[in-house]
Amino acid sequence: MAKLELKNLNKTYTSKVIPVKDFSLTVDNDEFLTLLGPSGCGKSTVLRMIAGLEEPTRGQIKIGGVDVTYKRAADRNIAMVFQSYALYPHKTVYDNLASALKLRKVPPATIKQRVAEVAEVLGLEELINRKPGQLSGGQRQRVAVGRALVRNADVYLLDEPLSNLDALLRERVRANLKQIFAAQKVPVVYVTHDQTEAMTLSTKVALLNDGYIQQLDSPEHIYNHPANLFVAGFVGSPQMNLLTLPCQGRSAILGNFQVRLPNIPTIPPQIILGIRPEDVRIAQPGDTQTIRGQVYLVENLGMYYLVSIKVEGSQNEAITVRALLSTDRNWSGEHITIALPSENIHWFDVQSGHALVRRRF
Ligand code: ADP
Ligand code: MG
Repeated sequence: MAKLELKNLNKTYTSKVIPVKDFSLTVDNDEFLTLLGPSGCGKSTVLRMIAGLEEPTRGQIKIGGVDVTYKRAADRNIAMVFQSYALYPHKTVYDNLASALKLRKVPPATIKQRVAEVAEVLGLEELINRKPGQLSGGQRQRVAVGRALVRNADVYLLDEPLSNLDALLRERVRANLKQIFAAQKVPVVYVTHDQTEAMTLSTKVALLNDGYIQQLDSPEHIYNHPANLFVAGFVGSPQMNLLTLPCQGRSAILGNFQVRLPNIPTIPPQIILGIRPEDVRIAQPGDTQTIRGQVYLVENLGMYYLVSIKVEGSQNEAITVRALLSTDRNWSGEHITIALPSENIHWFDVQSGHALVRRRF
């Protein structure tokens, strides 16, 4: 029942690398926080500081209201799963799972029960008597996750625990993790560069870039209301269409077409329009704010097609649309009309990259 608090954490390496800058957030005991961001943005550094494996240059870490900033790792009741996990090679899966509990002198009956629960959740029952050398990479990774799960820790830290699993297994373990931690009532901090993991697992996402938190929000908000261009471009697959357009009067000019600007006090010379491929429509009669263009790329993704058009009258402006196409029509090279519904458009400042209006909600 311990809340995790990070206050103005900073980490500077002697080489002048500053991977973490002024990092503050709180994770309550019913929250699953994901640190999401590109490789090298400082995610693991934050996690290692929480675990006590790395000392912050400045700032404070509290667990359950107690300052643990300078406590040894062993004196913080934290369970951590690393990307490069280490198992005892000579012990069975059962003993690998049980070892942390044995060390803590947990009664044997409780150990047996906890190990059985975790083994079931992670699908390890069949493998319980094998040794790590007799397991596949994915199976070993599940044992590594299991070793952290059996503990009754105050905080769980997971650093890209699913990255070595193949796609199907990753989906399954991901769904399992969500259920396990929802039942645990402890703060979880999960590191990943995979936005799908962040969106599906988290109650809260901190999107990091360059050592800073770009946005700290629910997955829904991060997706629907990106605070800046970095967030807009990082979250969402296929990526949001982002176009830098000149402004004229109350409109942004896109080739031969005009897009109504939002209500902002001063109209800048240029503005960035963002719209997700799934928010663009193939135009129907009666649609407003329509744009014509020639299809130059059609990609079949099974569930849907991605159709990219070059806007008529534009230098080089392209828009990608997610569409359900009938297979008896060849869209390539065709001129089509799409609609950009105003309520689906995100606007960003060219200079700062900040979102200019908070849309919907
Ligand atoms: P992430 O986990 O987001 O990929 P890290 O937290 O591991 O990123 O690293 C953030 C930055 O700090 C990177 O630029 C990395 O090269 C640098 N870094 C990490 N550890 C050290 C170290 N011991 N000395 C110097 N630089 C480091
Ligand atoms: Mg890392």
